[in-house]
Amino acid sequence: MRIGLGFDLHRLTAGRPLILGGVRIPSPKGLLGHSDGDALSHAIIDALLGARGQGDIGRLFPDTDPKYKGARSSDLLREVVRRLRAEGFRPEHVDVVVIAEQPKFGPHFEAMKDVLVPILGLPRDRLGLKAKTNEGLGDIGNGRAIACFAIATLRRIPRRK
Ligand code: MG
Repeated sequence: MRIGLGFDLHRLTAGRPLILGGVRIPSPKGLLGHSDGDALSHAIIDALLGARGQGDIGRLFPDTDPKYKGARSSDLLREVVRRLRAEGFRPEHVDVVVIAEQPKFGPHFEAMKDVLVPILGLPRDRLGLKAKTNEGLGDIGNGRAIACFAIATLRRIPRRK
């Protein structure tokens, strides 16, 4: 079994849709980024890549590459899972913490699971999603950013004889 840790933070800014966990969430501000800014998907990607000792999302999908401008991060996640499987590994368990002051993400976790569970190829109870506030402190507490931590375990896919 292999374990990887991922972290990501994006600024919140007016005039952008808020996409987190592949779901569009009603909010006056959205996450700034070269892609759709989906920090939760980015953190999962980094956790998966970390479990394989493969660096981070920026190495695979450079933010200088126009190809990834406005990219749906759930599609990037799908591509990472596809590559892992081609290398003989599959996600076994993913757990995520979202740190944000606004909006409340709890009511959107089931919709995020609807998107992420099939991409990750996991049973629904092997994806954990939790939300915390930053107790009003710092840039996250002031609603200027959202951060996400993710941890993922990978298993080697048994070879067919
Ligand atoms: Mg990111």
